[in-house]
Amino acid sequence: MDCIFCKIAAGQIPCEKIYEDENVLAFLDIGPLSEGHTLVIPKQHFTKIHECPAQLLAQIGSVLPKVAGAVFKGMTSDGYNVLCNNGKAAGQLVEHIHFHIIPRIAGDGVFTQWPAKKYQPGKVEKISEKIRAKL
Ligand code: 5GP
Ligand code: ZN
Repeated sequence: MDCIFCKIAAGQIPCEKIYEDENVLAFLDIGPLSEGHTLVIPKQHFTKIHECPAQLLAQIGSVLPKVAGAVFKGMTSDGYNVLCNNGKAAGQLVEHIHFHIIPRIAGDGVFTQWPAKKYQPGKVEKISEKIRAKL
């Protein structure tokens, strides 16, 4: 499979490594939104969160506080975003699950849009039912 993150996980392509264990790797993003922008990936290839075994996601989840804390403290940032794009429509360019940890400084303008909307009366119940039916 021609996957850049599989190649990084296998050591075939270099990366600036932050953390590694048997199942999880964290490294600096080559195109950072802010200095210290870090990616956390499973070494095994899955494309989207809902396709990934819960146990592997739990292993990634157990690494996130360690890496996020190190990014936050190491970059002396004011906060950070943890972001996981799933699918092209959501902005996923590399089709291997990855969690972005993006250090933020107050007023840095990294994300300027959050286009929040409102539900029309009666809609919220219908939407929640559609989702619960797929659990
Ligand atoms: P996505 O848009 O898929 O959520 O984000 C993919 C991220 O991977 C981008 O932020 C991009 O800069 C990063 N990226 C793509 N190719 C490489 C690479 O070869 N090395 C590293 N370190 N990061 C990469
Ligand atoms: Zn992959």
